[in-house]
Amino acid sequence: MSSQLQAHPGATAFAARQHSMLIGGQWVQAAHGKTFETHDPATGEVLAVLPAGDSEDIDRAVKTARAALEHPSWRDMHPAQRGKLIHKLGDLILEHADELATLETLDNGKPFAVARAADIPLAADLFHYMAGWATKLNGGTISLSVPYMPDSKFHAYTLREPIGVVGQIIPWNFPLLMAAWKLGPALTTGCTVVLKPAEQTPLSALRLGELIQEAGFPDGVVNIVTGLGEDAGAPLAAHPDVDKIAFTGSTDVGKLIVHAAADNLKKVSLELGGKSPNLLFDDADMAAAVPGVANAVFFNQGQVCCAGSRLYVQDKVYDEVLQGMSDVAKSVKVGNGLDPETDMGPLTSQEQLDRVTGYLSIGEQEGARTVTGGNRIGSRGYFVEPTILADTDHNMRVVQEEIFGPVISVAPFKDVEDLTRKANDSHYGLAAGVWTKDLSKAHRAAAAIKAGTVWVNCFNVFDAALPFGGFKQSGWGREMGAEVLENYLQVKAVTIQI
Ligand code: ADP
Repeated sequence: MSSQLQAHPGATAFAARQHSMLIGGQWVQAAHGKTFETHDPATGEVLAVLPAGDSEDIDRAVKTARAALEHPSWRDMHPAQRGKLIHKLGDLILEHADELATLETLDNGKPFAVARAADIPLAADLFHYMAGWATKLNGGTISLSVPYMPDSKFHAYTLREPIGVVGQIIPWNFPLLMAAWKLGPALTTGCTVVLKPAEQTPLSALRLGELIQEAGFPDGVVNIVTGLGEDAGAPLAAHPDVDKIAFTGSTDVGKLIVHAAADNLKKVSLELGGKSPNLLFDDADMAAAVPGVANAVFFNQGQVCCAGSRLYVQDKVYDEVLQGMSDVAKSVKVGNGLDPETDMGPLTSQEQLDRVTGYLSIGEQEGARTVTGGNRIGSRGYFVEPTILADTDHNMRVVQEEIFGPVISVAPFKDVEDLTRKANDSHYGLAAGVWTKDLSKAHRAAAAIKAGTVWVNCFNVFDAALPFGGFKQSGWGREMGAEVLENYLQVKAVTIQI
């Protein structure tokens, strides 16, 4: 691994400073003074020390968010002004793009170039897109014909109001972008927020907190509590004065969130795991499809909920595709994300390393054929080889379970009916890919696949205007697009007898 590491000095200084949480416009320590450490995924060394918030801090933040929701400075702010603040936040993210991208690399491990080209501009785009919605959250008028009041006339209309105080719990794979996906719609609809970043990657959310203040949002509109899932996330999900909880993370924790939310029946939206199938037909443009299906799983070290981790290849081109993918995998430069030469960084945590290497052993035991990769790299940091497991059987755990690493299972197919059955035979339904030049085949496959997103001749294409979310156990509700706004709004029907 090269030692030509390039880190934005502002980001390294930020990582090293004493960190605080944002509650009611104040930067504070945890009520009980506890802290936790994060680690640099490229070295395993301690990167930062953060306040370990718990139920008392969550309670403080929720009270502040409730007060901010009712305060005229936010409640009565004209939607156009709200939109301007959100737009400014998008601008500030772009102004600090290098610093924020470096923070993502330090915290998460991903290559700086990837964070700079994808995570940061996508986060800014999300705020810019959502800014426009603030002035368009209109209700409608409704004509009434009430059978038991035949002689009465009414004027009826709907109002769309903020759902209230929102708890948002986000994961570590796209730390800033996930914060943006959550905060953007909450702010444009006039909600207030308690955000709990993942304990592995809290730095960019805290820096974003400073930018939120700089943009001019009133104190208490966004509160950021760092801490562990069980200590800070769980009390947020269970809090009786939180009106809605939005969660992105594993399906197992998603189920815990639903249980925790049941007591006060807060609204819940969930963006959970996946095991997304990629279907490669023999009439595809191979020059695009082969790197396309490889990058569908190797992007972000495979730590992507919609990663194309199950590949089905039409039998005629099976060997050719395996060879091509193997060439791609071997050409991937794995290294420190701060090295400009790096294509793929380390996994984000020791837990991730254990999980992914565990699945590599399971794949071997189950009889999958390792075409490329299959091992940890070195003994320092959390690096693993991009791995292709071929000739996999549908019932293998490496085909059924979410690995969340750069590991793809590949199987040949002959019959399209059988292919569709296998593609859909999963608890998950987040995304899928289809590679073919035949338009009819593409549309038929897109209709047949049970997933919230289908990409044709592309993969991992995101845009703030495109709704994203899961069928089945991949989630409830949608992120982004116009659809996400419904997660954050209540509809009120007003009926006036005239
Ligand atoms: P992963 O297993 O990939 O680390 P998780 O679903 O555990 O992902 O974590 C996603 C987010 O959920 C993180 O912010 C984490 O702190 C939080 N979390 C973990 N456990 C709980 C829980 N029991 N209740 C609420 N939030 C939790």
